[in-house]
Amino acid sequence: MYSDVQKDDLKRRNADMSRVKPVEEDYGKPLTPERLDEMIQRVTGWALLNGAQRKITATEFRERVEPVAITLFPSILPVDVLRKAKSLQTSFQTLIYKVANDHEFMKECFSGLLSVDAFTKQLWDIYETVTNEGPAQEVSFTITRNDFMMESTEEDGAKQDCKQVEINTFAASGCGVANSMVDVHRYSLSLQDFPFEEEQLPENNSIDGLAQGLVKAWQLYKNKRAVILFVVEPCTPDHRWLERGVYRLDRSIKVIYRTFPQLIIQMSFGENRKLIVDGAEVAVVYYRYGYAPKHYPTDAEFKLRLGMERSRAIKCPTVAVHLAGCKKIQQVLAEPGVLERFIDDTDVIKDIRSTFVGLYRLDAKDSSKIITQAIQTPERFVLKPQREGGGNNLFGDDLRNYLEKIKESPERSAWTLMDRIQAKRHRNRLIRAGLGPECRNVVSELGIYGVHISTPSSVLENFESGYLIRTKSEEANEGGLCEGISCVDTPFLV
Ligand code: ADP
Ligand code: MG
Repeated sequence: MYSDVQKDDLKRRNADMSRVKPVEEDYGKPLTPERLDEMIQRVTGWALLNGAQRKITATEFRERVEPVAITLFPSILPVDVLRKAKSLQTSFQTLIYKVANDHEFMKECFSGLLSVDAFTKQLWDIYETVTNEGPAQEVSFTITRNDFMMESTEEDGAKQDCKQVEINTFAASGCGVANSMVDVHRYSLSLQDFPFEEEQLPENNSIDGLAQGLVKAWQLYKNKRAVILFVVEPCTPDHRWLERGVYRLDRSIKVIYRTFPQLIIQMSFGENRKLIVDGAEVAVVYYRYGYAPKHYPTDAEFKLRLGMERSRAIKCPTVAVHLAGCKKIQQVLAEPGVLERFIDDTDVIKDIRSTFVGLYRLDAKDSSKIITQAIQTPERFVLKPQREGGGNNLFGDDLRNYLEKIKESPERSAWTLMDRIQAKRHRNRLIRAGLGPECRNVVSELGIYGVHISTPSSVLENFESGYLIRTKSEEANEGGLCEGISCVDTPFLV
């Protein structure tokens, strides 16, 4: 801990905002090509050491990893922005839970698009089936990641506000590598001899919190022999971080990993809709897979999902919460008066609404006006279908051409139009394959993790659990981590 003298020094330095302003470019110390080369080698080595890595191929040893794409330095972020985004997390989670449990509202939102969006319709049918049957499990367990980009609120960019990109309620990824990065960036700043306070690169605890959520859900199932099932695809290492988090909290809890094809063969049901995989009763299903149409190549996968949803296992998330995370819901929540349906506190409503940018349906009576605007100035908008996982949105000319094509057709109901967030640009070096490490204009996306566990009668857990910052070059439209477009980053708080 700090001595009084150190605390005074810290206060003085934190008060002196000009201290941090000139550091954007390599934190004030120009890098020669040789020095840069050495920095990259040492910092990526540090990243590997800390677990900021991704799996690339299977070999005879089954696993091969490389450092995940990272920024060389942390990105400057006003402390108020992080504070605000974090403070809203529990309200957003309550909101999503309420939406997911409001059948009438869900019907109003989705009715227009089910006939033109086959994948959402399949999920909807599963949702309707379990809703009509009545759930076998009343505990709802959700891990969320609420994503924002930062806009300047003043000319010089010193003040920023966060604007919501989307909230993920299914397979929120990136938590492990995000946790690893704080230490990496503390190291890169030390290599630059740049002084900083611990609090300026805050610890990131997402794994601990999310693992606590998993353990709590497992406890609520009340069978010490039952397992946690991670539904996975072969190449994402996130879940391993979560398994380690669970292991550190309670070694008696067994975690099993299965893919959809394995589950199709191994899954069965016991009495009282118990979910059984390979002879083991499942307490909690954690989905890291199952969000994209390509994960369901045949009816067997939808049947599998229905089976899991119908079962007594606690699902992270339920299909209702999965659907509540759709862009369509985000768009309807931004309509006047809708937040008021779910939230009483006017200050909370105001704060949540302040994070919204314009969101538009394309099938309203007066939609033609906004469609015309988007066709004329596509650079001001993003066009989104009801999909997750990156690479589905349309920008620029693609957006214009597609809107021209669907503007009169029923298919337009499947899409949501959104104002493009004018993300605050800053400078950093992106260390990733196929891109030079020069200092470039970049933009960052801040994700806040959280856990929500509830029964219809009481909220059992609702907390915020750390952050993820992804940074990409300003020209990139989308920013997938898995695709290697975005780089894992940390905030340097000012
Ligand atoms: P997905 O479910 O595929 O992750 P997102 O809504 O998160 O869909 O969009 C993917 C990416 O596209 C985001 O990470 C962000 O980089 C970019 N993006 C999405 N919406 C906006 C927006 N309104 N303004 C600017 N960029 C956006
Ligand atoms: Mg996203």
